[in-house]
Amino acid sequence: MNEEFSLKNPPPSNRQLLTLLAIFVGFITAIIYIIWLLVSNLVWLIPPQIEQQLAAVVTPAYEKLAQPSSAQDSLNQLLDRLETKLPAAKHTKRNYRVLYVPQNTVNALALPGDTIVIYAGLISQVKSENELMMVLGHELGHFANRDHLRGIGQALLLNFALASIFGDSGRLSGIIASAVESVSSAQYSQAQERQADDFGLMLLQATYQHVAGATDFFARLNRQSGMDFAFLASHPSPRNRVDRLNRLIKEHRYQMDKTNPLPTALTNLESLNH
Ligand SMILES: [Zn+2]
Repeated sequence: MNEEFSLKNPPPSNRQLLTLLAIFVGFITAIIYIIWLLVSNLVWLIPPQIEQQLAAVVTPAYEKLAQPSSAQDSLNQLLDRLETKLPAAKHTKRNYRVLYVPQNTVNALALPGDTIVIYAGLISQVKSENELMMVLGHELGHFANRDHLRGIGQALLLNFALASIFGDSGRLSGIIASAVESVSSAQYSQAQERQADDFGLMLLQATYQHVAGATDFFARLNRQSGMDFAFLASHPSPRNRVDRLNRLIKEHRYQMDKTNPLPTALTNLESLNH
């Protein structure tokens, strides 16, 4: 029986190796999927203390880049106004703040520990207070849905799982983990972005009783596509967002009115060329 078996089956063929590889890849995919599911559900249970510890690791790098400035003060005043309109349940004991980074990058980030990072490059693309409020409201939406913890939580758990499978020194684990980390920490899913847009629109309406400026920032980015904007790289196509927001505005029968000018501290930004 054994002889017959070995005669009919020469040493491992490519086919067998492929099968093994497929099983291996399937195994890894299953683990990644389980981690993704776990984090998606557990992210609501992460206590504030743990988030503060994460913040202690992540935030200092941005605090170094940030500048206490009239621009930063002005951004925090705008954020405070939005905060008064936040649904109470999800935001008890939260105190959001803005770190203003005087660099040309067009981007905004939500960090663990209730911190929004805004780059001067983004402010320079914004023409009214209302559209800036939409961007801030969008970032608050990521906090409300805890997106900012999902990416980091997934990267951390995945690192841990891969280290357990391959051993700490495994090269592959390092490569996979860093690839996943770079994707998951910077990029949210299209669904997460849509929810954050919805949240921003809701806050805009609650703050002004109209939604003028809701689509202006994204529409402007769309016209300037081709430029290397970090915000574009990590967010869905602005054209789609504008169309979708316009549909929502119609559905909710939100009104349009005049936009407010940007606070003066944000119209003349110095030291943009770091
Ligand atoms: Zn976003």
